[in-house]
Amino acid sequence: MQFTKLRLLGFKSFVDPTELHIAPGLTGVVGPNGCGKSNLLEALRWVMGENRPTAMRGGGMEDVIFAGAASRPARNYAEVTLHLDNTDRLAPAGFNDQDNLEIVRRITRDAGSAYKTNGKEARARDVQMLFADASTGAHSPALVRQGQISELINAKPKARRRILEEAAGISGLYQRRHEAELK
Ligand code: ATP
Ligand code: MG
Repeated sequence: MQFTKLRLLGFKSFVDPTELHIAPGLTGVVGPNGCGKSNLLEALRWVMGENRPTAMRGGGMEDVIFAGAASRPARNYAEVTLHLDNTDRLAPAGFNDQDNLEIVRRITRDAGSAYKTNGKEARARDVQMLFADASTGAHSPALVRQGQISELINAKPKARRRILEEAAGISGLYQRRHEAELK
């Protein structure tokens, strides 16, 4: 599976429709301070199901919606679309009958988030599981946030262990065990 395109609309500083084509291999995002590089990475995490506002540097999830600027009014919703190439057929069951996948997440003020996969309504959990099983995902150590390396170096042993468990791919097991114990 390959990310091929990210589209943002009203997400943080990306008030106008913005498309980012993602070629195979390494992608670099460069630009002056405050131009929106971190916002792009956050959009990618968000469309994969990130649900912690702090991971979006906000107090509440609606803070991802364009908040307005001197010459532009605030928006009522934010939408991010992620396109994936699945010609290698590595998407998990349920998503694996198509060459291309399109995941959409939209948040509307006072109405929360809604997801679609290939045009059909989906649950947050379906989208999170799609990416968890594909070993990417909002919490994946494959995405390294700004400042995260120095956090790792300065972390207390317990916190560092949590990060290493995430990197080893075993933190999902704790989640599944927790869910199993509740049943
Ligand atoms: P740096 O190089 O300093 O890390 P960056 O390119 O990563 O900068 P970002 O942190 O992605 O920049 O973007 C910050 C900009 O996004 C700020 O100008 C901030 O005002 C704007 N921004 C964040 N949230 C919103 C929002 N909800 N509505 C409008 N603008 C927003
Ligand atoms: Mg940044």
